[in-house]
Amino acid sequence: MSITIADFHVHTLFSGDSHLSPRVCVSLLANHGYNAIALVDHDSPKGAVFAKKHLPKRILQKITVIAGQEVKTEKGELIILGCEKTLQGNFEEIVEFCKEENYLCILPHPLDFFRKNSACRKGFVHYAMKHVDAVECTNARSFMFFNLLAKSLAKKLKKPCIAGSDAHMLNELERVKNVLFCENKEEEIFEAIRKGKVKVFVKPYFSTLQRTKSLLWKLLFKRHEKGKGIKSVNTTVDATRVK
Ligand SMILES: [Zn+2]
Repeated sequence: MSITIADFHVHTLFSGDSHLSPRVCVSLLANHGYNAIALVDHDSPKGAVFAKKHLPKRILQKITVIAGQEVKTEKGELIILGCEKTLQGNFEEIVEFCKEENYLCILPHPLDFFRKNSACRKGFVHYAMKHVDAVECTNARSFMFFNLLAKSLAKKLKKPCIAGSDAHMLNELERVKNVLFCENKEEEIFEAIRKGKVKVFVKPYFSTLQRTKSLLWKLLFKRHEKGKGIKSVNTTVDATRVK
């Protein structure tokens, strides 16, 4: 049986908040044993479209680039895989359109209460989970506790789980591996996900530590900007570190 190793949640420069060029992330994963990568920029499929068009053939022969996007809706964010056009609309319209076109609809980080665009923060987590093809039960940027909650709810609702690194920076790549028991073709990958034939591997302790660190930095900066911060924090040094 063929095995495909994939990451279904990577952001590129086209997201506006990522440091990764499409060429770097696709080449790096291709050279580290991955067979498929979904580039899912915020509200845009441009990263994946760019990669498919401009990357050298020798790289694209090693790895399947799946076009995707992470779309904001009123009921939380959705990851759509397979679509090369920018999607807009409300939750129901997008889900319905994906069904018609056979695109894959994934609910990312559904129970991460720290993200304002997650389904739980919008109050629609059960509803949203019921209407998607699969759930991102493991997001490498989320705390393990939130991932465990997502996994438990997905199991209850009988939804297949996948993992996403949600990488925005170089050191966030390769944090997850989805091992699929299928051929390395887009339609077969989608079918394997829908049938739940995916094994997920993640570096949980590392991601939890990183997340704690970034939340602490955010907290420190916010306090400092408001004039309540710790006096010894030097803004010049900190600003450089953030960049
Ligand atoms: Zn994301």
